[in-house]
Amino acid sequence: MSEVKSEFSQVIAERINRIRAIIPPEVKLVAVSKYTTTEAIRSAYAAGIRDFGESRVQDAKVKQTELADLEITWHMIGSLQSNKAKLAIAQFDWIHSIDRLSLAEQCDRLILETGKSPKFLLQVKLADDPSKSGWSESELLADLSQLEKLQNLQIVGLMTILPIGLSDTQAYEVFSRTVELAAKLRSLGWANIQELSMGMSADYAIAVKAGASIIRVGNQIFAT
Ligand SMILES: *Cc1c(COP(=O)(O)O)cnc(C)c1O
Repeated sequence: MSEVKSEFSQVIAERINRIRAIIPPEVKLVAVSKYTTTEAIRSAYAAGIRDFGESRVQDAKVKQTELADLEITWHMIGSLQSNKAKLAIAQFDWIHSIDRLSLAEQCDRLILETGKSPKFLLQVKLADDPSKSGWSESELLADLSQLEKLQNLQIVGLMTILPIGLSDTQAYEVFSRTVELAAKLRSLGWANIQELSMGMSADYAIAVKAGASIIRVGNQIFAT
């Protein structure tokens, strides 16, 4: 290993330790590796990370193949096109980005077809943001009875991505709304909605304060 690489490996470990130091131990840290190399993933793994997030099914496949010797839990966090759903189900342990009923219905069928059953999160959007996908609260409540029919899908929680440019106070407010929506869903009989995937490099500390159980951090671990 070259001098430069081992130095970067150390930087990655330090960054991970810094994040770990400020989040509670029960919060799952997903290291978002979509822009990084398999060497950097190995460094994060050596520093104790077991959960990695990717946003493109095909890019992930290449890394997964190269890293098959590691015991990694793979998270699909990017928006998922229908024609990639089958591959995503085959390749990932978690899918955070179920953002529409048609995709949920398709995944429900594909679970039977593939025999694979990843954990699913429903992506919600509780602030106005035309650039992001996901259910608004009213849209999700309207789709609940259809979602309830999907007996194969293990829906374990909600995921959200904030619009850029919010103040800390606004960010906390939107994260809190997501926490409240999960509680509302549980009160409506969706007892399995326990996980909250919220917070990225810029806002994970706020997300954790609001109640995130999973954070997705890329740049703050892997930026070069
Ligand atoms: C890229 C990405 C992240 C990580 O973002 P950073 O700002 O690099 O921490 C988290 N979640 C989703 C959905 C992403 O696409």
